[in-house]
Amino acid sequence: MICNLCPRKCSAERNNTTGKGFCRLPSAPKIARISPHMWEEPPISGTNGSGAVFFSGCTLRCVFCQNFEISAENKGRIITPAKLAEEFKRLEDMGVHNINLVSPTPYVDCIIEALGIYRPGLPIVYNSSGYERVETLKKLDGYIDIYLPDFKYSDNSLARDYSKADNYVEITLSAIKEMLRQTGEAKFGDSGLMLKGVIIRHLVLPNHTKNSLGVLDIIKENFPDTLISLMGQYTPHGEIEKYPRLQRKITAREYEKVRNYLFDLDLDGFAQELSSADERYIPQWDY
Ligand code: SF4
Repeated sequence: MICNLCPRKCSAERNNTTGKGFCRLPSAPKIARISPHMWEEPPISGTNGSGAVFFSGCTLRCVFCQNFEISAENKGRIITPAKLAEEFKRLEDMGVHNINLVSPTPYVDCIIEALGIYRPGLPIVYNSSGYERVETLKKLDGYIDIYLPDFKYSDNSLARDYSKADNYVEITLSAIKEMLRQTGEAKFGDSGLMLKGVIIRHLVLPNHTKNSLGVLDIIKENFPDTLISLMGQYTPHGEIEKYPRLQRKITAREYEKVRNYLFDLDLDGFAQELSSADERYIPQWDY
């Protein structure tokens, strides 16, 4: 395939085993881990866990990524869409509450093919960096029940420095608008599990509370009724030697400042405990 799936629009050749674009990923699904996952938001993980399919690689590749080994180094195992469909069924049989596609963007065509082979009777979650092309999201209309996009930056110069994406803000705004158009407002089942909707995630970075407050302002202005998930789990990891400001965890004071602003803006959602900032919460990649 000649790939233009994400906003990088590389027009690069990708085949079943190799790829030449920014992401350097093959077109066939490359997998880092498939297992029930307990560490998403409560209406996603519930009691039995979310059926997470962690895809290898990423179209954003933030320097601080806690999943650096798979997002930047692309470690993983290549499978077929038919095998991916089998894995959806296996997760469903384990009793998970949903199928959670983590960093799925480079594999959208194969995911649609896999869902054509086997469509689980569970909500399908699209869990992404938020840096998405609207044209690619439109292909997923009708397949995805829940979107979990990040909104990482309010400042494109930070997005350029940390993620080589100097158009992040406007791209992510358009992407989340399309996600909301597809799902409508959030819906929950009797047990409190999410059935449909969008939760926007924001990870607070050390020394960058101004960025976080700016993100909350953008969300308030554009998506005032959408659920927010504020994350304090930042753990220094990845390619951060050149970035001294990223070389520590966030402080309780930084987190409080952002969380209080979320409350001041009267936004609804979830706020993680700071104790989640621990490498123990990074999944074990078993490929
Ligand atoms: S998915 Fe990969 S190859 Fe395709 S446009 Fe994005 S970065 Fe480029």
